[in-house]
Amino acid sequence: MLKPDQRHQVVIIGGGTGGITVAARLKRAGLADVALIEPGETHYYQPLWTLVGGGRASAAESGRPMSSVIPKGVTWIKDKVARVNPEDRTVTTESGKVVGYDRLVVSPGISYFWEKIPGLSENLGKGTVSSNYLYDLAPLTWANVQRTKGGTAVFHQPMGPIKCAGAPQKIAYLACDYWREQGDLTNIRTIMVLPTPSMFGVKVWSDELVKVAARYGIEVRFNSQVTSMTDTTMEIKNNETGETETIEYNFAHMTPPQGAPAWIKDSGLEDPESPFGYMSVDKNTMQHTKYPEIFGLGDATNTPNSKTGAAIRKQAPVLVTNLTASLAGQSLKGSYDGYASCPITTSRNKLLLCEFDYTMEPKPSLPLINTKKEIKEFNHFKKTGLPALYWNFMLKGRA
Ligand SMILES: Cc1cc2nc3c(=O)[nH]c(=O)nc-3n(C[C@H](O)[C@H](O)[C@H](O)COP(=O)(O)OP(=O)(O)OC[C@H]3O[C@@H](n4cnc5c(N)ncnc54)[C@H](O)[C@@H]3O)c2cc1C
Repeated sequence: MLKPDQRHQVVIIGGGTGGITVAARLKRAGLADVALIEPGETHYYQPLWTLVGGGRASAAESGRPMSSVIPKGVTWIKDKVARVNPEDRTVTTESGKVVGYDRLVVSPGISYFWEKIPGLSENLGKGTVSSNYLYDLAPLTWANVQRTKGGTAVFHQPMGPIKCAGAPQKIAYLACDYWREQGDLTNIRTIMVLPTPSMFGVKVWSDELVKVAARYGIEVRFNSQVTSMTDTTMEIKNNETGETETIEYNFAHMTPPQGAPAWIKDSGLEDPESPFGYMSVDKNTMQHTKYPEIFGLGDATNTPNSKTGAAIRKQAPVLVTNLTASLAGQSLKGSYDGYASCPITTSRNKLLLCEFDYTMEPKPSLPLINTKKEIKEFNHFKKTGLPALYWNFMLKGRA
């Protein structure tokens, strides 16, 4: 049994979207002793990285000092979790601290596994290969989009659940719209590689996206993945037919294969059915399926919603209701319905606002707007409206 160096009523792992939102809500619920373990100095609003890659926002706008978003009265343990010891109700950090908890909230986000595609790590960031999934490389996407006047551009989405599964497509449409405006689109062969059999999991938006891709002349490779690459070529495999093709490319936007951090599994918290090691929580209550003192939210869990900040906005109040009920010895009444939202930028001034839940049916929240079609002149909603909602309300536990 590990003896804790310090103990807190609630310990939160991760100061990202999930961790900060829950910390704020716990403080608003009146909990006095909340600690947050987070190694980073900066908190990022990652959805903006799509617009950085599309030349519509600067990377600097997406970050704020971590100290400015951690709610007052929350103890910041500036360290990285190495493992959770659920039987002891403790967490061990990389610097060797042992932190005890009555309740634990796990929200460390997702890990990237670039090395799963041979050749990707070696070429990433070296000029022609970029990714909006990294703060440092989203500006390179925009540089590449501007530089590309002809040749072949590839936009790739890997197999398995990833954060914001719409993001690999969004940047393709932003890039094509720019090339159209520059008069270059007809000189550029654009290939989109998707692991899925359709453009989107909800039919009404999938049908719309088929039209959007056709409008730009994008060749979509369904059920496919990039299996290896060099600095000028890549191999694409169709997982249905087993056929492969080799493409010469001039610009590639790559989304990394993703999964839960390895210590989730090493701590015995993973869903054994999940090939990507995501943490096992009840999809409605957000409570761990084996350890009732542990709750989880965000990208690292196995809940079958779309991994987005929008989902976390609905998970966090449910988690806090249930965590505080469990501290009071009451039954868990909060229930998350799988809501997620994915604003897909289909051009530099249009977007498809996809909102849905576990039923995979549209669940629109904006009255008077037909969200089944592209909405014109609506990208200010993504560039300024949603970030304002995020920084001023969601992270403060007020939305
Ligand atoms: C390009 C892109 C576009 C996106 N677009 C959208 C969008 O349009 N709409 C939308 O809703 N969502 C979007 N998202 C997804 C959204 O940003 C994520 O779903 C959300 O940030 C996940 O929150 P989280 O708390 O699970 O993880 P994160 O916000 O990633 O935070 C995880 C935190 O945990 C910390 N951490 C990691 N390991 C440890 C450890 N061992 N110990 C302690 N702390 C640790 C990290 O430092 C980090 O601060 C997008 C993401 C990307 C990358």
